Amino acid sequence: MPSLEKSEFENVFWLVYPDRKFLATKNLAPGVSVYGERLVKIDDVEYRIWDPYRSKLSGAIWKGLRTMPIRPGSAVLYLGASTGTTISHVSDIIEMQGVVFGVEVSARVARELLDRVVKHRKNVIPIVEDARYPNRYSSFIFKKVDVVYSDIAQPDATEITLSNCTSYLNRGGYMILIVKARSIDPVAPTNAIVEREAKKVENAGFEINEIINLKPYDKEHGLIVAQYK
Ligand code: SAM
Repeated sequence: MPSLEKSEFENVFWLVYPDRKFLATKNLAPGVSVYGERLVKIDDVEYRIWDPYRSKLSGAIWKGLRTMPIRPGSAVLYLGASTGTTISHVSDIIEMQGVVFGVEVSARVARELLDRVVKHRKNVIPIVEDARYPNRYSSFIFKKVDVVYSDIAQPDATEITLSNCTSYLNRGGYMILIVKARSIDPVAPTNAIVEREAKKVENAGFEINEIINLKPYDKEHGLIVAQYK
């Protein structure tokens, strides 16, 4: 059995084995594995291994993320929920006193999200919509959020994310933006592209906290954490 160590972030743990360690979250839906991740029981509490090669937020923690605005009780707007890999760990971290609104444009993908995640977790509110039009889902978002997390792999992902922040993010809240370099520019170096997107975020009234290159977990991706001033 591994030993359990707290990470520096609330509700994020390390499971430490003699020869390696894994990041993990406490499973809000015991017995349910979302994407084939391993479930590990320690002292009657079940944890889910959080794979950095499958989830960019896990990759960022492995790469030394310092600012983690997603905490127990947080309200999160998640753009690009997909089939639920990362949003399920967000759901674990925020626990039942938090809420995560998951926007996903593809109805086919969202069906899997419902099956794998929403069915088992009452703190996940699915929204099958295009994040380009934040006004279309205003009736679902019953309160302003502490964090907008965005992973939509679009050329204008930064602009889309900023418009969602204008609509739904509390002042003082945080944006976590995944930049997929090749969706934006076919040739420029990843870091240059991510810096360029960070500048846009700064110009929109945010303070940049961190920029992380997600290599080797994700090639040609960056993650930006910024605070809404
Ligand atoms: N964040 C997910 C995770 O870590 O589990 C992976 C997200 S995947 C890279 C990108 C997702 O964004 C896809 O499921 C895609 O359908 C969705 N997407 C792309 N454009 C979108 C838009 N305009 N509005 C909402 N979702 C969008």
